Amino acid sequence: MTTAPTNAPAKETEESQDAGYVDVLIVGAGVSGIGAAHHLRDRFPERTFVILDAQDNRGGTWWTHQYPGVRSDSDLFTYGYRFKPWRGPSIAAGAEILAYLDEVIDEDDLGPHIRYRHRVTAARWSTGDRQWTVEVTREDTGQRLRYTAGFVLMCQGYYNHARPYRPQWEGMDRFQGVIVHPQQWPADLDLTGKRVVVIGSGATAATLIPAIAGQAEHVTMLQRSPSYYFAPPVNDPLAVELRALDIPEEWTHEILRRKFMAQMDLLARMSTESPGELHAFLIESMRPLLPAGFDIDKHFTPRYRPWQQRIAIVPDGNLFAALREGTASIVTDTIETFTEHGIKVSSGEEIPADVVVSATGFNLSLFGDVAFTVDGEPVDFTERVTWRGIMISGVPNMAYVFGYFRHSWTLRVDLVCDLLVRLLTSMRDRGATMVTPALRPEEADMPLLSFADPDNFNAGYVMRTQHLLYKRGDREPWTHLLEHEAEREILPKADLDDGTLAYE
Ligand SMILES: Cc1cc2nc3c(=O)[nH]c(=O)nc-3n(C[C@H](O)[C@H](O)[C@H](O)COP(=O)(O)OP(=O)(O)OC[C@H]3O[C@@H](n4cnc5c(N)ncnc54)[C@H](O)[C@@H]3O)c2cc1C
Repeated sequence: MTTAPTNAPAKETEESQDAGYVDVLIVGAGVSGIGAAHHLRDRFPERTFVILDAQDNRGGTWWTHQYPGVRSDSDLFTYGYRFKPWRGPSIAAGAEILAYLDEVIDEDDLGPHIRYRHRVTAARWSTGDRQWTVEVTREDTGQRLRYTAGFVLMCQGYYNHARPYRPQWEGMDRFQGVIVHPQQWPADLDLTGKRVVVIGSGATAATLIPAIAGQAEHVTMLQRSPSYYFAPPVNDPLAVELRALDIPEEWTHEILRRKFMAQMDLLARMSTESPGELHAFLIESMRPLLPAGFDIDKHFTPRYRPWQQRIAIVPDGNLFAALREGTASIVTDTIETFTEHGIKVSSGEEIPADVVVSATGFNLSLFGDVAFTVDGEPVDFTERVTWRGIMISGVPNMAYVFGYFRHSWTLRVDLVCDLLVRLLTSMRDRGATMVTPALRPEEADMPLLSFADPDNFNAGYVMRTQHLLYKRGDREPWTHLLEHEAEREILPKADLDDGTLAYE
């Protein structure tokens, strides 16, 4: 694919400047947007495209999150793309993931197609013109631009990058220390000799604490309730062994992908079929890594089933090492109030703090907060139903990439793009310029279910915003959030002519 010529004559309107037409407009330059651009360019070299991102650089999540120690939770063989071998350690630092994305951008010559500091605010579909009009505000100049596009591909991720979730606690205003959120980590924050309290028990807390434990005077992880952890090696032994054999990187990548897919399939299956067994396995695998006599019941035994929320990774058991060495400790309790010099919890204990890190998660953002209209009618997503977690009923020529919770996000990028390539090919072959998911007559009474089933996945950021999200149905193809094990069979065979897609 190629970018629309940037030197096309600009047409001024009252509100915004005409930025030209592209066949596909991609929102977001994270792993989804960059992966999607690769696939589209590979399969449709003649089509024009552009990637717009509100931030000033590529990487999405990996650019936003710059806190000490930031790294993947997934193995990079499955978090890396199917088409580009991963050559580093199994668990990678944020900077290594950015370098990998840079290689993809270079190899595919995507750079000239990416526009940074371009925030998409609105997208208006016109059936008459068979195109989207996409309103953009430049974050640096405030200038307003207007793109037109035949197809919009939303790769905006799931949370608001500019506004992290910051719960308010009593007494925060009187606290004399510094309060930071990992999503907006101050580059000049020096923790040397500081007493740090990290509020939270998820992946961020588990990543940050071992990274700062040696530098700070002491780090306390303050959690309301425990999470599940798993401690794989940073360097997978099979990868080390295969690399020593000097075989092509592509082979190692594929073998390791299959190994990790099988491992994740097993964990996902166990979480529903034998949750007690998985619970016991996860708890018992931590026991030898913790200090003698450690209260595992209180601090590391969650009240939910494994995988109802993400299982956090502790590479090489580094968080447990910090607990053993005494540079970090855990308090499991609820916050009563901030004080001038720390945090008082319900037990009456006051935890002294110079710095409080609020590792409390995200504000979910639906489709990047873009206001969608179809033929002048605002799209109320709460009334819409997803088509395979890829398109939305009644919204023409728009697809989105939403990755897996339990497997690597990127596995779904490749699968969704394969389907999208088939869909665009199918449109071309039938001479259609518009495709819209629509319920068939027999589905008119299909029950519409909330975005996520809380029994299946109940992370806070999803539960807080369920009421704002689109719905799913109770049957194919109106389902989503399926496991990769199922989807890698279903999506490649999905019938694009089953009556749920209207081609015009
Ligand atoms: C610290 C951290 C670690 C993680 N680790 C893992 C992991 O190991 N494995 C895993 O599977 N998942 C992980 N995740 C989940 C992670 O978000 C996904 O893996 C993945 O990075 C999402 O990529 P994306 O490109 O879809 O979205 P994002 O990375 O969120 O990027 C979206 C981009 O779109 C841009 N954007 C959004 N709205 C607009 C708009 N209106 N206009 C213009 N631009 C817009 C944003 O600025 C952003 O740059 C992690 C998340 C975090 C926060």
